[in-house]
Amino acid sequence: MLKTLFKKGNTSRLSFFKFSLIGVSTISVGVLSYSYYKKYQWEQSKTELSQQHFVKYKINWRNFIDKDHFLLEVESIKPQKVNSWKENGYKKLWSVEVKQPQIHVVRNYTPLPLKHVNSNENNEDDFSLKVIQDDASDNGKLMFYIKKYDNGEVARWLSKLPIGHELELRGPYIDYEFPLSPEDEIILDTNFLNSKNRGKEIDDKTKYKQFDINFFTGGTGIVTPLQLVLTQDPFKGKIQIIHACNDYKKGLKPLLPLIDKLENQNRLKLHYFEDFRNELKKGKNLNKIIEKPYSFVGFNQINDSDNDDDKIKPIFSLVVGPDGFIENVCGPKFDLHQGPITGFLGKKGWDNDNVFKLS
Ligand SMILES: Cc1cc2nc3c(=O)[nH]c(=O)nc-3n(C[C@H](O)[C@H](O)[C@H](O)COP(=O)(O)OP(=O)(O)OC[C@H]3O[C@@H](n4cnc5c(N)ncnc54)[C@H](O)[C@@H]3O)c2cc1C
Repeated sequence: MLKTLFKKGNTSRLSFFKFSLIGVSTISVGVLSYSYYKKYQWEQSKTELSQQHFVKYKINWRNFIDKDHFLLEVESIKPQKVNSWKENGYKKLWSVEVKQPQIHVVRNYTPLPLKHVNSNENNEDDFSLKVIQDDASDNGKLMFYIKKYDNGEVARWLSKLPIGHELELRGPYIDYEFPLSPEDEIILDTNFLNSKNRGKEIDDKTKYKQFDINFFTGGTGIVTPLQLVLTQDPFKGKIQIIHACNDYKKGLKPLLPLIDKLENQNRLKLHYFEDFRNELKKGKNLNKIIEKPYSFVGFNQINDSDNDDDKIKPIFSLVVGPDGFIENVCGPKFDLHQGPITGFLGKKGWDNDNVFKLS
């Protein structure tokens, strides 16, 4: 076509063609630039943790508690506007998905509102865990307590990544929602968790009657109730944890001072069993701890005549841990279906109205 145009010396048609060509190119460049600009804008807007897209975080710190367990502190590359700790508080249990980009898989992990503070720069094991307060500089920090399986993919990969490595996170995913307290109910304080003192420091008097719960936790499942008590606006009733583990003192060492303070404050009672299967068979201690479910009458206003009773009266049990653990405690979970309540809790008179199996 070009050849014909030159041969005929048809300059007006040629310049028209040139003009059209330049026009089309300019429009294409414009459209491309606009779509790149839009994509850039979209990438830039992907700063807030969201279920719709992955957001970049970086690994700040890691500490191996023993050969199978480690703590991993991550921080969002861009500051977060939404404070997920305050947003979810006592109302929701939540987790995030971490992407392993080489094998295109994601795994859920339950974050804790904690950051590490090094006491001695020359000794990386000399650190303590502090609860993240409502401070903008810490907004975007998440702490994970992770178990690495010898033949597992993602946890093993996370255990080896260098400090500063970027991770992609998506969420939060709500794993359980609790009923809301009346709007004018108090917010329980968490400042005492960062203080040096161990004693009962504050008055936890709520305006309304609250309800207590049990958590049966296997292994890293313990992070779930801990999220609920360490978060800003924490759970308002008392929590009883029945924890199955191999070595409690070693496997949870950095978290023990916080658990101790929470127990002192009477917000938490933790019973651990290093041979849980045996305990389930014999039920010597567990039978004394776990009674039938109590009933909850509602968030009624507390009167002066109401007893300030320290006893934990759980109305609900949440069960979290490996499949075998859940099966023994309350019967198997079938994918998204809860399945009937059997196992230990079934025998004790608990049912689907008062037991929930988490993943
Ligand atoms: C809502 C939710 C929250 C979670 N929060 C945490 C958390 O805070 N910390 C944490 O460490 N994990 C947590 N998990 C588990 C986590 O998502 C992964 O399943 C775990 O890290 C194993 O993944 P992997 O890729 O390393 O191993 P995979 O490659 O998936 O598995 C490898 C091997 O390990 C075995 N295996 C995998 N998971 C378990 C298990 N839980 N118990 C026993 N054997 C297992 C498999 O049978 C397999 O043989 C959570 C899971 C869910 C659904």
